[in-house]
Amino acid sequence: MIAAGLVQASAPDVAEVRSDAPSNPSVADSILYLDGVTVTFDGFRALNNLSLVVGRGELRTIIGPNGAGKTTMMDVITGKTKPDSGEVLFGSDIDLTQLDETAIANLGIGRKFQKPTVFEKLTASENLELAIKGKRSVWRTLFTALRSDQRDRITEVLDLIGLAARRKEVAGSLSHGQKQWLEIGMLLIQDQQILLLDEPVAGMTDRETRQTTDLILGLAGSRTLVVVEHDMEFVRNLGARVTVLHEGAAIAEGSVDHVQNHPRVIEVYLGR
Ligand code: ADP
Ligand code: MG
Repeated sequence: MIAAGLVQASAPDVAEVRSDAPSNPSVADSILYLDGVTVTFDGFRALNNLSLVVGRGELRTIIGPNGAGKTTMMDVITGKTKPDSGEVLFGSDIDLTQLDETAIANLGIGRKFQKPTVFEKLTASENLELAIKGKRSVWRTLFTALRSDQRDRITEVLDLIGLAARRKEVAGSLSHGQKQWLEIGMLLIQDQQILLLDEPVAGMTDRETRQTTDLILGLAGSRTLVVVEHDMEFVRNLGARVTVLHEGAAIAEGSVDHVQNHPRVIEVYLGR
């Protein structure tokens, strides 16, 4: 672990503190702490000395051009990719670089990939049933009776993700947006402390995007959310602290207004 002073030194250009701006979490109350993280693929640096501190209970959005390293950052946090160098901590002292994907998921770090990965032939409700019961074979799981508290929780989550009326329909017949919500539901039902959402509104209609905004805002606070997204209107509506990635490093961080007016961000990503 490096000293707090060094974190300041390596942190990206940070916004003037506005009274209404989300504040930068200190290392002490961080739930995710990345410092100096580098990942190379055949000599190419997908992450280049990346530092990122996310506070417990924080909602954070990550933006940046294609190839900036956003998905690789999630791969590193979830143990799918091991960094060449750098620190990746959960809480103040759990070194995620030493754990495999299953151990990291069991710590309470859940991830939604860019493409929905629900079981198309099972109903919305059955998908949640699988998620709540944990990893066993699909058929064994579906033949095990649900406890009443699990049943209640499934109903609660179906309501939250707007799928109560479609609970008995197979996931394959749901719209793209509804599949994304179902997958978020599968993370919620596992009571993960941190949810990493990779481009959750990609391919959604405007209406679905607005509903996803409401869903995420409703989830914020009781858990930590890290949301990677390109849709700037969506990012603005979330109103959270934004980190901009470019060529594997954080180049700016602060409120949406701050990063949208940041010369380097305009130059490499948002344009004029
Ligand atoms: P983003 O999600 O910001 O679009 P990625 O993290 O997917 O960016 O990719 C960052 C860079 O790393 C890209 O240039 C991509 O081609 C490269 N990359 C990602 N994963 C791999 C891999 N497994 N092997 C080789 N190159 C990769
Ligand atoms: Mg990506």
